[in-house]
Amino acid sequence: MNYVSHNYYLEKNIAFLTKHGKEMAIIPLFEKNVFCHIKHVMNYDTDQLGTFSRDVQRFDNQLVTARNKARIGMEISELKLGLASEGAFGSDPFTGFIPWNRELIVLIDDEAQTEIIGEAQGPGNHHSINTTDWSEAMAFAKKIGFPDQQIIMRPDHENTGRIIKNINSWHLYEKFFSNTKSYSTTGHVFIETDGRAYANPMRMKMITEAAKDLLKKMQSCCPNCGIPGFAVTKRFRGLPCGNCKGPTKMFYKDLYACQKCGGHREIKCTDQEWAYPLYCDFCNP
Ligand SMILES: [Zn+2]
Ligand SMILES: [Zn+2]
Repeated sequence: MNYVSHNYYLEKNIAFLTKHGKEMAIIPLFEKNVFCHIKHVMNYDTDQLGTFSRDVQRFDNQLVTARNKARIGMEISELKLGLASEGAFGSDPFTGFIPWNRELIVLIDDEAQTEIIGEAQGPGNHHSINTTDWSEAMAFAKKIGFPDQQIIMRPDHENTGRIIKNINSWHLYEKFFSNTKSYSTTGHVFIETDGRAYANPMRMKMITEAAKDLLKKMQSCCPNCGIPGFAVTKRFRGLPCGNCKGPTKMFYKDLYACQKCGGHREIKCTDQEWAYPLYCDFCNP
């Protein structure tokens, strides 16, 4: 790619509305790579826009929430650029059995009138157990990586209104387990991984990956108008087979497009000239 620029965001102020410690991972990354100033907006409780539910969130909802957060941060700080991220937990889209985490981070730029989205997804630390037994509770905590990964607890079941958060030591865990069990009507304690960024190291890593994806797009500028966000909008399969020369399912080029001026380029996405016959439906059906 020839269209990389590090200077577009030089000295620009970008609002970043967040809590739960995401700023620690994200601010240095942006300031170091695109030389902007991030204004951390804290005087707004983002939990008003929703906390983690147990359903799979639709991509749209996740993106709309991220956009709303970015806009609120821009309003509060009176800036033309705003950044916000939003995560979702669910099951993996392939088998439906693996706990999955998808993170989005969006940059709204009212000067350029663009929106750039960074994304990352993969296995997430998102587990729960309902138990009466302390040794089972201990085994669960070891499995999920406690105490770096923090725990949330409720009496009886997953929908009880009473929630105990910020459990981050074995001493607290044992104390709250016996305490919660004593006032639980069934003797059960519902225990789950905390999804908040600072309490969930795997999620924090995923947020960092999404931020890196966004940074890459922020540094990719349109060859026509110079506006950042010149990114892949479509991928093409059909790298020719090395044996029969027919098209395979392997990707061979990407369509990069500018959301500002409509400029676009088709760029080869592989150094390979031919696909291995292994990937050819004709040679290896
Ligand atoms: Zn352009
Ligand atoms: Zn072939």
